[in-house]
Order: sequence, then C-alpha cells, then structure tokens
Amino acid sequence: MSAVAVSFENSKAWVLIDCAEATQHALLHSELTLYHLEAICITHLHGDHCYGLPGLISSMALNARKAPLKLIAPRAVIQFVQSCFTLTEVRLSFDLITIALEEINEKLPLECCDIETIALQHRVPSVGYKLTEKCIPRKLRIAKLQQDGIASGGHYNLLQKGQDVQYQGQWLQSDDYSFYSWQPRVAIICGDNEKPALLSQAIQGVDLLVHEATFTASDLHRVGFHTGHSDAKRVAQFAQTHQVPMLALTHFSVRYHGEGMLQPLVEEAAFYYSGKLIIAQDGLVVDIPKQKQIEGS
Ligand SMILES: [Zn+2]
Repeated sequence: MSAVAVSFENSKAWVLIDCAEATQHALLHSELTLYHLEAICITHLHGDHCYGLPGLISSMALNARKAPLKLIAPRAVIQFVQSCFTLTEVRLSFDLITIALEEINEKLPLECCDIETIALQHRVPSVGYKLTEKCIPRKLRIAKLQQDGIASGGHYNLLQKGQDVQYQGQWLQSDDYSFYSWQPRVAIICGDNEKPALLSQAIQGVDLLVHEATFTASDLHRVGFHTGHSDAKRVAQFAQTHQVPMLALTHFSVRYHGEGMLQPLVEEAAFYYSGKLIIAQDGLVVDIPKQKQIEGS
C-alpha cells in the first residue's frame, strides 16, 4: 500500500506522499506524530494511493488538531474527501487547505521543504513530487567578517539565521557572511508511471528517487502495457543513465508476495543499476547522506 513519509533533520514538520488504506495504522508503528504533519500530497486518484485520507484526516480532528493541514491532490480526490466528510458529518477542528494538482504551475513553499510536481504517464494523470530540504543550519564566514572589520555581536546571530542586518549604517547580506552547513537534499517520490524518461529534466542533482517497479520486464510483457506501470529494468536503466545515487523501488505486484518471490525483480534491478538500490517494505526508513557545503561556495 502506497504511503511515503518524508521527515527532515532540522524541522519537526513532515510530509506524506500518498495515503493508501491503513496508512494511519502504519503511522502508529513509526516515530512520526500527526500533530506535525504539514502536508499530504497525493500522486493520482487510484484508490490504492488515497483511500486512507478520510480516516487519517478525521483522526486528526478527533485529536483536536488546530494547525492547518495542506492537502495537495487531484481535484477529484479533494472532492472525494470533502464528500466523505459531508456525508458522514465530520467537522474538522482545523483548516484543511486544499490545493488541486491541476492548478499548480510553480514551486510550492512549505515550512520544511519546497515542493515541485512532475507530470508522469499512467492510466490517469499522475505526478512525481520533488522535495528540496529547507531549514538547514548556517555557519558564519568568520574570516570574511573579520576581514571586513565587522565586530562580533548580536548581528552575528542574525546573519547565521539567514537574516540581513544593518551594521554601522550599512546592510550586511546573510548570504555574504554565512553558508549552509550542508547542501539541501533532494528526493523525488513518484506516483504510478510507465515512462521514467519523463523525469529526465528533474532528476539532475537528486539524491534519492522513489519509483514504482510493479513488474519484472518479462512479466510486464506478458501482462501487457495497458496497466500504465513500469518494470524494474526500465527504472533501473533510467537511474543508471542519470547516475542517481539512491533508487528505492516500490509498489510491487501481488504476484511477488511470498518468500523469495521478489528476488527476480531485485536481481533485474541490480543488473542494470549500480548505485544504492533499496527495495521498499513497510516501515523501512531510508537516510539520505549529507554532502558538506564548503565555505566560500
Ligand atoms: Zn495507479
């Protein structure tokens, strides 16, 4: 069942991508709290990606949540959730800010990350979400501060927090006197998609790609291409071509359930991709390593 949580090192806020049935039960086994959930992003309208929404959102109301929650989803999914609440007389204790995918044409800034959407190809419109980390602590360029004759004081603190400050009548830009401790980490988490090449432009500089691999190449051939899904080979080849450092495969067909059944798919992916291959399973936690930012860059 599809649901990927993205949490951040320097922010309590987190984001949920897709919300299949029983997502809220899976969350009970995690360290995440619904209280800090900032946004739910739905990739496409198929039920195995959104049927968990009414339960999860109304549970937040039962817990008397006050902070607004963003729901980014296809218009039909927003209607599905709102109808569900109307018909079952649910009154939310907080603002549900709905953003229809169809209306997004620029980057969405959240508290914990920036979000962009990438159009994919499936039986219905589907997207990938590109998340770029925010809230990265800054370090001061002490040498430059001293060189420019700027004495230490409260303004050092502000510069380090990313604020421009006035000092002896002149404006000091935070970007000149401080730098991020590490490069923002970037992940793309995709909905169902039969054409990984659609990610070609967005994939540059991405640390982790989470993509479906519903079938092996031979099984997809047998089942037929009408499903709108990918096989492990084509996703692995795409990740290899674009030198993606980490690839997490998800959304395996039920035919691979059971002891050892997934092995051919794993081997197929590993044959075509030499980076860090991750095979998703419920509750799996993946860390994206940090790349140190160098002073002066
Ligand atoms: Zn689907």
